[in-house]
Amino acid sequence: MNIVLLGAPGSGKGTQASMLSKKFNIPVLSTGECLRKEISQKSEIGEKISSYVELGSLVPDQIVLEVISSQINQLSSSKGLIFDGFPRNVSQAKFLEKTLFENKATVNKVFLFDIKEKDLLFRISGRFSCAKCGLVYNSYLKNPINITNCDDCGGHHFKKRFDDNFKTVRNRFSVYKESSEDLIEFYRKKGLLTTIPVLGDRDKVFDLLLSEVQT
Ligand code: AMP
Repeated sequence: MNIVLLGAPGSGKGTQASMLSKKFNIPVLSTGECLRKEISQKSEIGEKISSYVELGSLVPDQIVLEVISSQINQLSSSKGLIFDGFPRNVSQAKFLEKTLFENKATVNKVFLFDIKEKDLLFRISGRFSCAKCGLVYNSYLKNPINITNCDDCGGHHFKKRFDDNFKTVRNRFSVYKESSEDLIEFYRKKGLLTTIPVLGDRDKVFDLLLSEVQT
């Protein structure tokens, strides 16, 4: 099962991706994570892309595809993949279609997390994650049960994303608006798109997502 998750930054798609991954034991491919890793490792690719990610602009397709294509080839035909943050535009969607086809696979379902814009900034400004396992928390909405330790792995170091700052977030929103319209239409026309309203906490959203995945 190959599942694509779409939504504005802060809509919760990363959190829902890891919940789905645990439930079905399918790996997540997060392009944002892959790109941030390249930057933190100061690789050649990392050096090329850091200014795009810092500004909240899309990294050129050619580089993104280079970073992730081997992972799609390895994983999509065996267990399937949950795509978080990819594709971001129609040309990436077409690349994904082609690569999956070559692996005798296809995109099975696409979910769009629909959230009011006014809620996004608030959600992003509270966002932080466990430095060890990556579980995402929110200082307004969901802190760890024991505030000093991660609920999942017990880790006690937490981090914030460097691109979760006000200036970058504003640009990420406008980039999302510009690039997502055609992409959403692309999947709608193929009959693959289901919209998930982001109302209530992550568990409520997940229940809704789960019922749609299983239909
Ligand atoms: P995300 O973690 O999905 O919010 O992505 C963080 C940043 O990584 C974005 O603001 C972009 O700069 C870059 N990025 C992530 N995924 C893609 C993609 N599929 N295409 C281009 N740039 C991307």
